[in-house]
Amino acid sequence: MLTEARILDGRSLARRLRRQIKTEVAAVVAAAGRPPGLAVILAGDDPASHIYVKKKEEACAEVGMRSFVRRLPAHVSREQLLATVAELNENPEVDGILVQLPLPDRKMEAEVLEAIRPEKDVDGFHPVNAGRLLAGLPGFIACTPAGIIELLRDAGVPLAGRCAVVVGRSNIVGKPVALLLLRENATVTVAHSRTRELAEVCRTADILVVAVGRPQLIRGDYIKPGAAVVDVGMNRTEQGLLGDVEFAEASRVAGWITPVPGGVGPMTIAMLLRNTLLAARWHLGLDAELGSPFVADLSAGEK
Ligand code: NDP
Repeated sequence: MLTEARILDGRSLARRLRRQIKTEVAAVVAAAGRPPGLAVILAGDDPASHIYVKKKEEACAEVGMRSFVRRLPAHVSREQLLATVAELNENPEVDGILVQLPLPDRKMEAEVLEAIRPEKDVDGFHPVNAGRLLAGLPGFIACTPAGIIELLRDAGVPLAGRCAVVVGRSNIVGKPVALLLLRENATVTVAHSRTRELAEVCRTADILVVAVGRPQLIRGDYIKPGAAVVDVGMNRTEQGLLGDVEFAEASRVAGWITPVPGGVGPMTIAMLLRNTLLAARWHLGLDAELGSPFVADLSAGEK
């Protein structure tokens, strides 16, 4: 008999995390006299980007952090973008900087991300932080992948020794989440648009993470009974916001599943706040004993 999967409730875990972060922010203010500061660079008028930036500003305000938003026109030049990053790099009240992607001109993205000082790169997209993750060194970990691991751990989903399949190989989700699952001692397969027999590959997964951007690509028969299914997809369609997984079918087969919305999305913002808090603690000398500009996620899996 098939039963309904347990919900991996990102909204509720993120709320708990934000409460803890709020307490820690108050401790930073008491010790250093200023709150952690997060700066967001928003170029152009993509409506989804505006919604995401507004959510980030609201989340900062809720936990007592200061947010700085630099709004730039859609036709912003490379020089203007780099000058904005340089100003924020030097600003002593800014602990974290993120560039809301996509930029109107996607060709500028790599150079602009690389201009951020790695110790302010709270999105974890700078090649230094991406490289440190690959090398197993402490650094800022991209927020969506970090949030996925927190969600799985909090629910007690076993990872060590289990087969994990990640569908999608982007730099911001697929690749880093694959590395984090490997760090948790899962056996990891990464699938993508050229993968043959995707359904068969997915059916090997005890943990299936889907970050593709195709509404309801993953059907119930792609899922191994009892698997944990994490749906990163956020697809705006005529039927509303849909994930990459067909939820009704999948939840009859899976053991755990994230809803869309209310799964991965809120965790991403909670991890952004956490990275900003860690950056501020380091900039203010409160974590000087770590001896590195890169604040470790010290709760990493055992080797
Ligand atoms: P990208 O477009 O950068 O990457 C998509 C990946 O999916 C690529 O690796 C691509 O393969 C692969 N892919 C495309 N079509 C197929 C297919 N038919 N079968 C198998 N693999 C396929 O997307 P992102 O990683 O940036 O985002 C993925 C989704 O997650 C989007 O819906 C996005 O909105 C959402 N998202 C949600 C976040 C959240 O906080 N909830 C945060 C970030 C993203 P190939 O490399 O071969 O082209």
